[in-house]
Parts: sequence; structure tokens; C-alpha cells
Amino acid sequence: MTEVESCIIVGAGIAGLLAAQRLMRYDIKVTLIEKSRGYGGRMAVKTIGDSTFDAGAQFMTTRDLIFRERVESWLAQGEVLPWYPGPLRNMRYVGSHGMTTVPNRIGKSLDVRLSERVTKLRFGKKGWTVTTEPHGGKEKQTYHGDWLILTPPVPQCLQLLGDSKIELDYDEEEELKKITYMRCLTVMAQLNGPSGLPNPGAMDLNHDVLRWIGDNHMKGICKTPGAITIHSSPKFAEAYWDRPEEERIQAMLTAAKPFIKAEVVEATGHRWRYSDPIRIYKEKHPFRKPYFIDESLNLGMAGDGFNGPRIEAAGLSGMELASTIISPL
Ligand SMILES: Cc1cc2nc3c(=O)[nH]c(=O)nc-3n(C[C@H](O)[C@H](O)[C@H](O)COP(=O)(O)OP(=O)(O)OC[C@H]3O[C@@H](n4cnc5c(N)ncnc54)[C@H](O)[C@@H]3O)c2cc1C
Repeated sequence: MTEVESCIIVGAGIAGLLAAQRLMRYDIKVTLIEKSRGYGGRMAVKTIGDSTFDAGAQFMTTRDLIFRERVESWLAQGEVLPWYPGPLRNMRYVGSHGMTTVPNRIGKSLDVRLSERVTKLRFGKKGWTVTTEPHGGKEKQTYHGDWLILTPPVPQCLQLLGDSKIELDYDEEEELKKITYMRCLTVMAQLNGPSGLPNPGAMDLNHDVLRWIGDNHMKGICKTPGAITIHSSPKFAEAYWDRPEEERIQAMLTAAKPFIKAEVVEATGHRWRYSDPIRIYKEKHPFRKPYFIDESLNLGMAGDGFNGPRIEAAGLSGMELASTIISPL
């Protein structure tokens, strides 16, 4: 592999951000391109009035020692707070101002182009040329890099590669096509008083309609009491995906009513087409690396689809891919 001078990363979720941070420590010029207005991807925060809601991921697990060290450094900087221990007794952490706290700080230290959707990829003798369509009908932009790392959910990566007529090895592509994700419907509701959820304000549910109810005030990210996030079960998300938003919200609030002790004042919904991966790249191949790499194309892919349905798994995937690009095995 020739020396890498520059890399384009698509996606400013945790995988893209931690990959970028690692590459930059080795003086590789990194351009990170993100279609949304902010950093964090599925680690998303929404504000309604004075209330802050974690709209996607609710907490970070720390099962892996390397990731736990990272989280401890964020803890020392006041960027994360301990919430409560999970079934393996490892602490679950939340962003001190919502789950985007760490992504925001990392993103601001990098060269990130926000609000630009990557629409076309080209690979040639001089590496990659990436074309983007910025929001608001602004002119298309192009970027160049020796390497390309894709971190969107895998079906979106494959779509982008296919639209750009970039051919992967047939067997590898068939393996990548097996990576699938569940859907999730989310409701963020402001109540007229404390939710009454038991401490620590988190209910992991095995319910027909609901998977999770979390209290953002009890969690410590929202000053106003009674700001709750409700996630649906995958089964409900499939059944209600195309129903009108009001109907989806109402059905989830009705299912949540027995668990909460105040009335809903305001509620908004969100649809997650790719929530967490059901089948990952390492499925049945435990010795596979937690990322995809094609050295003939100077192409890598990282994210939770390669390593598991958690923030830490996605972050580690990005970090390990970056290490391999820096010093190939
Ligand atoms: C509802 C929900 C609840 C969850 N709860 C938890 C939890 O409690 N704990 C936990 O550990 N994990 C949880 N997860 C999973 C966790 O959020 C993910 O595993 C992790 O955030 C994935 O990070 P990533 O970087 O791989 O992908 P993403 O965060 O999806 O980042 C990919 C980025 O690529 C961008 N992108 C896509 N296409 C393009 C394009 N063409 N051009 C430019 N940019 C593009 C996207 O906008 C996105 O920002 C949850 C997820 C959801 C949706």
C-alpha cells in the first residue's frame, strides 16, 4: 500500500468521527462530509421549546476496554455522565448535554462539510473524487482523496457505490448485502409534570408496541421535568411505518400511558429507517475484522453494521479501520 496522504470520510456519526480523529493524528488530511446539519448521526438530540430530548441512541455502553478508556477521558472532561449500570454491570454513560455532546466537540476540531449529501463517487489513478449536493440548491462540490471511508448504514453505502458504478468483489458484495437493520419509530413528548418513571428514568421494555421509555430530565440532560423519549418495538415500526404521523404518535402514546403519571402537552415523532443492525458483517464470522477494506480500491467501510448494534461497536469499527489504513497488516 502506498503512503496515504488524504482521506475522504462520508458520515459524521461516531464511526466517521473517531476514524477521522485517528487518521489526523498521523497527519493524514481528512475531509469529512455529512448530509445533516449536525454531528453524531444516530446519536441525535432534538429540542422542543425549552426541553432537550435524546432522539436516537440513549446511552453508551462500555464493554470494551479501549472504548471504556475513551469514555473515561470524556468523563474527565465533563462531556459524559454516568447513568446506570447495564446487565453486565458496566456503566452506561450519557452525553452531558445530550448524546451529541462528544460528537459536537470532535466534529468542531475536524474539517467537516455539513449539509452536503454525497451523491457520486469516482475512483481513478489519482484516487477518489467525491461529488456532493449541498442543501438549499447550492452548487455541487467535488473533493479528492487517496482513500475513501464510507460510514452510512451499509444498504446506503451499497446504493451509493452501485449508483456510481463502483464494482466490489462479487462474493464480498454478497456478504455486505446480508447486513440488515431494524426500523424504529420514536416519539418525544413533553408532559405537564414529572413522568413518574422509576429511577433511573429508563424502562427497557419487551412490549408489543414499545421498546424503550426514557426520561431526559431524570437522565440529567433536560432542565424541564417530564421530557420523555419513547422508542417503538421493531414489529410496531414495520406495521406503522407508512401510517400518518399523528396516528403513529397516538398509538405509541396510548401504549405508553400505563407507564407514565402525567398528561402529554406536546409530542413529535421521528422515523429511523436504519435503527440498529440485525445481522452484522461478523455474524457467523467472529474472526473477521470489524470493518470492510478493499485495498485494490483504497476503500473502507465502518460502522455498527460491521461490529454490533451499539455506539461503542460503531466507534471501534471506525478506529480500527483507520489504524489499518495507517499501518496495514
Ligand atoms: C432509536 C435508536 C436507539 C438506539 N439506542 C442505542 C443505545 O441506547 N445505545 C447504543 O449504544 N446504541 C444505540 N443505538 C445505535 C447507535 O446509535 C448506532 O449503533 C451508532 O450511533 C451508529 O454509528 P455510525 O457512525 O455507524 O452510523 P450513523 O450514526 O448512522 O452515522 C452515519 C452518518 O452518515 C451520514 N450519511 C448517510 N448518507 C450520507 C451521504 N450520502 N452523504 C453524507 N452523509 C451521509 C448520516 O447522516 C449519518 O450522520 C440506537 C439507534 C437508534 C436509531
